[in-house]
Amino acid sequence: MSNCAIVGINWGDEGKGRMVDLLTEKYDIVVRFQGGGNAGHTVINQYGKHALHLLPSGIFRDGVVNILGNGVALDPQNLWQEMQGLIEAGVPLTPENLMISDRASLLLPWHRDLDELEEARLADKKYGSTKQGIAPFYGDKNQKKTILAGELFYPQELKVHLADIMEWKNLTLTRVYGACGYTAEMLQQWLDEYCEKLKPFVRDTGAFLRQAQAAGKSILFEAQLGALRDLDYGIHPYTTSSNTLAAYAPVGSGLPSAKIEEVVGVVKAYSTCVGEGPFVCEMSGPEAEELRRAGDEYGAKTGRPRRVGPLDMVATRYGVQLQGATELALTKLDVLSYMKEIPVCTHYLLDGEEISDFPFPTALAEAKPQLAYLPGWQQDISAARTWQELPQEARDYVNFIEEAVGCLITYVSVGPERDSIIIREKTGGQK
Ligand code: GDP
Repeated sequence: MSNCAIVGINWGDEGKGRMVDLLTEKYDIVVRFQGGGNAGHTVINQYGKHALHLLPSGIFRDGVVNILGNGVALDPQNLWQEMQGLIEAGVPLTPENLMISDRASLLLPWHRDLDELEEARLADKKYGSTKQGIAPFYGDKNQKKTILAGELFYPQELKVHLADIMEWKNLTLTRVYGACGYTAEMLQQWLDEYCEKLKPFVRDTGAFLRQAQAAGKSILFEAQLGALRDLDYGIHPYTTSSNTLAAYAPVGSGLPSAKIEEVVGVVKAYSTCVGEGPFVCEMSGPEAEELRRAGDEYGAKTGRPRRVGPLDMVATRYGVQLQGATELALTKLDVLSYMKEIPVCTHYLLDGEEISDFPFPTALAEAKPQLAYLPGWQQDISAARTWQELPQEARDYVNFIEEAVGCLITYVSVGPERDSIIIREKTGGQK
């Protein structure tokens, strides 16, 4: 069977977790290939409601192997705490259904401190970091100043390596920020308390994946955040510090030779954006508050109110192109049911010109949204399970998006539960 990546088309929080949870049924392996515990997928199923931060969303399915690839920011403390939450809810976690790449770099205790110290230094120029240490982590990873999970099996060498990095990092903590440095005892405690617990799950997942590929197993690649947060192609510098694109999935997962035949891009029926940075179609006032409340748009990790707006066709088309999406899942359509007419951003106005291509990040601050309004359906659609059960106005809205972004919408989600989904035929043309 073919491989598939489930990726975000916009700024993140599109509902990728619910799509992975739904589609894992068809796959043998789910791999998280980038990012860390700085965002959260919310999944609702027989185990209850869970916000997953680092664990792959296939963790709830029997017989699915879940892998944390080498591209993730592996935070032992957060991961262990997240695992505890699931174990308490009755989800089985064993080295058979959860594997950690021995080549994943460990997010070290000072990464969180540095994130916090730097955001405080930036004050009103801050990036809006979730302060989980992700940016300092990836910075250090690229400088080769991190520890690989596999080093936990070499305690003598690890001790020396960790002491070397600590000495270097203490210079930044104490001399640049005037903060406290770390000691060998503090690191030993961190190793004992968290890293030791994860050791049984760490293995050569690259070898495992190569064997699985040879045996014809199917792999689902799960991304965090969305295309507009991609380090190279997103809204620099308000991106995340890793690559959120499907193209990176093979490299970050441990199977660089993988072919990904299907890329399911997840798009929310309206726009949301957490944190700082340009957000051209942002709504404000009571209109924004109503949409935020209807969609329960508060961060899964931080509880921060998300910025909201109408669906942005310019950004979404760009996201579809970056991801190479072969099909789309449109989520949260039910949230728009209260609207009499539904705004959509069709173009940007920039320097007096109407543009439909996503501009260079610096220009975004000057771009103004051009809105069109589509008729709303003003009825509850959360019980719809077939395309025909959707009111015509809802179908027209979906078709409008499909045409505007140039990609088939094969899934329409009308609620957070696993079965609140309409699956359309991949041939298109259904009005
Ligand atoms: P992710 O990071 O892309 O997985 O997105 P989040 O988990 O942050 O946000 C998606 C939120 O919307 C979660 O709380 C989901 O349970 C919820 N959700 C997903 N799909 C739907 C839907 O179709 N309708 C409604 N009402 N909620 C949904």
